[in-house]
Amino acid sequence: MSWQGIHGHDEVAEQFRRVLARERLATSYLFVGPPGIGKHSFALRLAQSLLCERPAALLDPCGRCDSCRQVLARSHPDLDLIAKPKDRSVIPVDAFIGSDDGRDEGLCRRLARRPFLAQRKVAIIDDADSLNQEGANSLLKTLEEPPAHSLIILVGTSAEKQLPTIRSRCQIMRFRPLSPEIVCQLILEQGLTADPRAATQLAEFSGGSLTQAREFSDPELWPFRQRLLAGLAALPRNSSALAQAVNEFVEAAGKEASLRRERTRCLVRFGIDFYRQRIRAYCSANDNADDALRSAVDAASKASPVDPDAWTVAIEAGLETLERIDRNAHLPTLIEWWIDRWGQITAGRVTVPD
Ligand SMILES: [Zn+2]
Repeated sequence: MSWQGIHGHDEVAEQFRRVLARERLATSYLFVGPPGIGKHSFALRLAQSLLCERPAALLDPCGRCDSCRQVLARSHPDLDLIAKPKDRSVIPVDAFIGSDDGRDEGLCRRLARRPFLAQRKVAIIDDADSLNQEGANSLLKTLEEPPAHSLIILVGTSAEKQLPTIRSRCQIMRFRPLSPEIVCQLILEQGLTADPRAATQLAEFSGGSLTQAREFSDPELWPFRQRLLAGLAALPRNSSALAQAVNEFVEAAGKEASLRRERTRCLVRFGIDFYRQRIRAYCSANDNADDALRSAVDAASKASPVDPDAWTVAIEAGLETLERIDRNAHLPTLIEWWIDRWGQITAGRVTVPD
């Protein structure tokens, strides 16, 4: 079952169906959940349901009326889509209060107008994590005294990443990661690969996110994984050679920083999976490890002492590396820190907390 072709979020759809039936729709929502699980698509479909000529409470847009067609074309006059421009780190405040040259009057003014065609005006603000204080402040009045018939949906990754002023004025809707089965189905549907086995493997590394699955579909990544796993199995030996190889591979992703960050994230996740597999093997737990991972773990058991506590610390260091990538740390330095840290942990030089 999937609501309107949006996979994995039937529960959220059901919640909206209930509030619409009771005519209790709030005026601002904050959608949170990992990237790449369909929150924006859900918001857009909800907007379509509200703007369609059919009764909104059905939550079943017809897909054929003028309103539906314009929503699908993202050109409906009562639908406002705001997102962080690719080359900016925040959503510019102009998007809310208008530009100096008057060409853009800004979302707050547009929302204050009566709807043109539908019963409501709907605004979807993507990348809500990138709202800075100035942007949030300019939106506050609209959130506090929302114009009648308006609905604002902010889309972010977690409630904690939002400024308290925004968070406290929105109804929070949590979206869960997708199941591996749904990710696998989407990978095949969207043609990331046509090979069902590869799709299953990508889905396992996806963390329930299609965006993450897409990052792992980089064909150059998988041959390098062998090199990485062999290097990790040999730690603490040759850690600087491994860091250099990783740095060169990341560099080869291209000039764009986002591509290099993406590639680093995948490598760190391969590494975290290696330590998780060590724990699973130690506990004789069930696993889906492939041959490459299995033989790396066997080799590691011969090269370094069996120490499950240290592996847990290594996983934590890996998660910290992922966070630092998201905070735009200088990649070559971060990669050296990360591999060195794992080398130190494997050598028993990092004290494991009790
Ligand atoms: Zn319609």
